[in-house]
Amino acid sequence: MDADLLYIVERLRQRFPPLPPFPRLDPISQLVKSLISSRTKDEVSWPTFWKLVGLYPQWRQMMEAPVSDIERAIAQVTFAEDKAANLLLTLRGVAKEHPDFDLTFLGDMTVSDAHKWLQGLDGVAVKVAASTLNFSTLNRPSFVIDSHVLRVLQRYGLVSHAADSDKAYRAVMGAIPDWSAEQLIELHRLVKKLGQSWCQKWDVRCDECPLAERCVRRI
Ligand code: SF4
Repeated sequence: MDADLLYIVERLRQRFPPLPPFPRLDPISQLVKSLISSRTKDEVSWPTFWKLVGLYPQWRQMMEAPVSDIERAIAQVTFAEDKAANLLLTLRGVAKEHPDFDLTFLGDMTVSDAHKWLQGLDGVAVKVAASTLNFSTLNRPSFVIDSHVLRVLQRYGLVSHAADSDKAYRAVMGAIPDWSAEQLIELHRLVKKLGQSWCQKWDVRCDECPLAERCVRRI
């Protein structure tokens, strides 16, 4: 799989314009951003995140806010009701162990232990844990598999069609244990762009896809 992933990066780099700089948040901000972002476009999730932290500049204020207020603040994202409830549960879980909401300690743990800690919080699964570790200023090597990335990995044949995010995460990280945080971010961003362009859920344009030569096209 290592060679396949290198090939994918190479091919997609050639076809997409250079990726713009990646904005990094501190770990708790990235955790919150990730919790409200699933299945929501960046153009919606980023303004929603900034609105939320503008309304609640202290994490404790956010944690103690009525869930209906949080839901109203993030109304633009998908599943706002569930995400608002989850967000409060997660913040309470963080506050129990780290009342200052400082998650920089995750940078001193192994990636595997940091995942365990994050996924031990209510409302946090593998994707949110990985994005907190990889996208934030922690800059840890952990591959973020969202719905676009998972779909491409399945169709290309890198993981089984039935693989869920957990299984796909273990397969990819097992295949490329030495990839740096930056390499994993680039892989994520390129594959996600593919999933948003030629390899969308209901609009699949294999004829134009730069990976068509080696893809098994399991659709
Ligand atoms: S060849 Fe088709 S199925 Fe395979 S990754 Fe490209 S668009 Fe998706």
